[in-house]
Amino acid sequence: MNRIRLLSEQVANQIAAGEVIERPASVVKELVENSLDAQAARVTVEIQAGGRSLIRVIDDGTGMSRDDALLCLERHATSKIKRAEDLAAVATMGFRGEALPSIASVSRFTLTTRERDAESPEGTQIVISGGKILEVRAAGIAPGTTLEVRQLFFNLPARRKFLRTEETESAHIQHYLTLAALAFPEVAFTFQKDGRLVWQLPALKTSPDLSARLAALRERLRALSGDDRRLLPVDFSAVIAAADQSDESIPSPDPPSSSDSSLRLWGFIGAPGVSRSTREDQHIFVNRRPIENRGLNFALLEGYHTALMKGRYPVCCLFLEIDPAAVDVNIHPAKREVKFHREREVRGFVAQAVRQTLLEFHSGESARSKPGDQRPDVRGQKPEIGRKVLGQSLPSTAQGALPNFPPALKPPPVELSKPSVEQPSLRMGFGITRRSQSAGEPPAAPQPGFTEPERGDAGPPALSHHVAPVRGSSAAEAGRSASFEPVPLLKVPLRLVGVIGRLYVVLESDRGLVLLDQHAAHERILFEQMLNRLEQNHQAPSQRLLLPETVELSARDANFLRGQLPTLTRLGVGLSEFGERTFLLDALPPFVKAADARRFVLELVDELKAVGQEVNSARLGEHTVAKTVCRHAVKANDPLAGRELENLVEDLRHCAMPYTCPHGRPTLIEMNFRELEKKFGRTQ
Ligand code: ADP
Ligand code: MG
Repeated sequence: MNRIRLLSEQVANQIAAGEVIERPASVVKELVENSLDAQAARVTVEIQAGGRSLIRVIDDGTGMSRDDALLCLERHATSKIKRAEDLAAVATMGFRGEALPSIASVSRFTLTTRERDAESPEGTQIVISGGKILEVRAAGIAPGTTLEVRQLFFNLPARRKFLRTEETESAHIQHYLTLAALAFPEVAFTFQKDGRLVWQLPALKTSPDLSARLAALRERLRALSGDDRRLLPVDFSAVIAAADQSDESIPSPDPPSSSDSSLRLWGFIGAPGVSRSTREDQHIFVNRRPIENRGLNFALLEGYHTALMKGRYPVCCLFLEIDPAAVDVNIHPAKREVKFHREREVRGFVAQAVRQTLLEFHSGESARSKPGDQRPDVRGQKPEIGRKVLGQSLPSTAQGALPNFPPALKPPPVELSKPSVEQPSLRMGFGITRRSQSAGEPPAAPQPGFTEPERGDAGPPALSHHVAPVRGSSAAEAGRSASFEPVPLLKVPLRLVGVIGRLYVVLESDRGLVLLDQHAAHERILFEQMLNRLEQNHQAPSQRLLLPETVELSARDANFLRGQLPTLTRLGVGLSEFGERTFLLDALPPFVKAADARRFVLELVDELKAVGQEVNSARLGEHTVAKTVCRHAVKANDPLAGRELENLVEDLRHCAMPYTCPHGRPTLIEMNFRELEKKFGRTQ
């Protein structure tokens, strides 16, 4: 007996709809993407009852002829790709020709369209219900397309039941529209909810010039969230050299990277100390498509590293521009995820761009290379930063104990905000060609014995193809001149007022009140000093304990710890094997006091394990040990006095990442005069 039947077109469409159209927000996404693909300059979205009863999307894009309007409702009918090869380099949002027939099969659907370039002013209207065409007629309409989707899932009661409350559904819609509006500032967006106007975003002028794009993006961010947080402009680019054909580390059987492909990352990231407890304000776009990608999420965390507290997430709006042939967008039904052919390189690039932006925030031009210095220099960043900051130290005065604090506050030195004309290069270990590694060797994992004269190695560990870093047109310049970038707190003169609670140093700047957490600052300073020493002589100072202690661990932890012993030793933590599962702790860095040896060792094990799972970078193991060790730094209980406080602030100024302790907690809090006035009710 023959049992196999071909499904009717209508059922097939409903099955497709099940994948692509999860909820009203998916309809909005598909329709708006179509409008954007059709080069609309203005997109209006209206919804009712969270999109359950109505979704209407109006655009002024290219529109469709009558034939096309009928054809677009067929499954796999698309104007965007022609051949299978085109799938390898999709440049539009859509390409499967699935959305419209899917939506039409699960709703009451009206398409009204008029071709922009057609001679006849007549448009076409097609009315469909549950996938059946009810009517095709001529209609009067301005050039462009209007799509109306009513009673979504009316013929799929099970689906309809799964919809959440109206508020939840409209929140999803609004979230998608936010992303679209951020990615397309040159398009005017209007959003109406239940007859109420939610947004009316004017089209913003953009040009290929980065400063214009950043300005437009900043404007959109402000318009969408009223966001006034401190953001830093980002702009880096790099070239991934063509893959060596003999290289087996390329997973794709047919590596599409037969030529060099370039990458660019631009946008904004939160200044140190700006973060959220969710990923809600973390927006990443790949070729303007909002995406989720675990690798990029980790790259961000890795880039922030010690500038982010545990459990906090970066705030960012970043655009990765990459050769469409170097990324696969056809791996997720709703195209929310993408896959990079050179995942590791892309990830390393993003981590490094973020890190470099954060470092430059404090160091200003000093972190950049001299003109003509094209070679990425991975060394000596720290001393250079130190010199720069020293050069800026404030004038001595006759005010007794605090020569470095100015008697009267002055505006920050002008040259700090001046744009640099130098071409800085990407540092931090990116772009190193290590051809010595043989092809096909597995990627280098964090290795205990790994020593390399670089800090914050966030770059791809070992590449047999080089990734040449090129700094894009300078975002920092664009940013500064358009005053996106706040003057970093440690760049403005600070005057000491006093200490409260034996912990918080009260300072005054020309902008308002500044509080410094002595312990957090101390931890940051120790942390960076430790890493610097490590960089210079591969060994942090260590002091023998008068009473060595033994620590017994579980077999698993013991096994793990054994592999980490060389790193620990280099960082001054003297731990050695003392039996099957027992270790002897007999030395610690001089400033550390571990009251409970077992807890201290377990904490190290846990932190190192966590890092191993999350990130993939050679230096993070050491950073983690240093971080954990610094948490146990002896806390000076004596209140610090004049000279010591002054040294503390000076030492902090010398740090590469002074605004957070190694665990990401802020070292400094600023309350500017505007905030003070607000608190005192002087202004609104
Ligand atoms: P895809 O976007 O994957 O091509 P869709 O089902 O979303 O598939 O749309 C099918 C086709 O209909 C598109 O390729 C496009 O040619 C046309 N189309 C859809 N929406 C619009 C619109 N708003 N303006 C102009 N053409 C449109
Ligand atoms: Mg589409």
